[in-house]
Amino acid sequence: MPDRYFIDEPISGPRAVLSGAEAHHLIHVMRAEPGMEVTLFDGGGDEFSARVESVGRSEAHLSILSRQRVVRESSIDVTLGVALPKGERQRWLVEKATELGVARIVPLLTDRTVARPNEQTLTRLRRSVVEASKQCGRNRLMRIDAPQSWPDFIAATVGEPNRLLAHPTPAKRPPPTVKNHLKYVLAVGPEGGFSDAEAAAAAAAGWRLVDLGPRMLRVETAALLLAGIAASGLHLAGVQ
Ligand code: SAH
Repeated sequence: MPDRYFIDEPISGPRAVLSGAEAHHLIHVMRAEPGMEVTLFDGGGDEFSARVESVGRSEAHLSILSRQRVVRESSIDVTLGVALPKGERQRWLVEKATELGVARIVPLLTDRTVARPNEQTLTRLRRSVVEASKQCGRNRLMRIDAPQSWPDFIAATVGEPNRLLAHPTPAKRPPPTVKNHLKYVLAVGPEGGFSDAEAAAAAAAGWRLVDLGPRMLRVETAALLLAGIAASGLHLAGVQ
């Protein structure tokens, strides 16, 4: 895959200007010269072949050579509600969820949530989405929504199909059956787990509780396991 650069506004005309971190990468890391050809994407789903026309200290001007629709999205619409872990593990989770094709992450504020992302953190995480999309070839950006409280998330997802809550259960119950595999809403709790009341509120609203096996997984492992199964179209054992 040729070097890909993200432009934070829709590309429409015959030219585009790269600035900020993307320009830095092109100019100072890749040492771009006029004539060099690169791929651009703007998050709208298309990919553009472009040629570097001129290079400044912090901006590069490019001409658009062609526009192609290249779909590398999952055909399954996965929303992942997750009580984010802290620090580097948070960034890692966002990077891998982007690679797996998750459509949207909603940071959950639960009773035991440890990390409450502020605007600055969200901006940094959205930047990780761009980095991961450049690498894995996604032409649409995974959304990271503003944090939602657990009751708000339950309310906002009422009526959605296939709402699965990862919750370790000592008494194993059969895995849930899901109606179709086109859309999932998933929820993974914080390191301290969902409280019993939180799990009960979800169950009352129609969520199915899923157990992910006998080992206790870190938040990000549980999130990526569940999101990976959902986005890939693979089936949980016993799920029809
Ligand atoms: N300390 C908690 C575990 C929290 S693990 C406890 O003892 O219950 C963090 C989150 O990852 C959980 O809230 C759950 O959503 C998910 N998770 C981790 N391991 C899991 C498993 N084996 N089955 C189902 N969910 C799991």
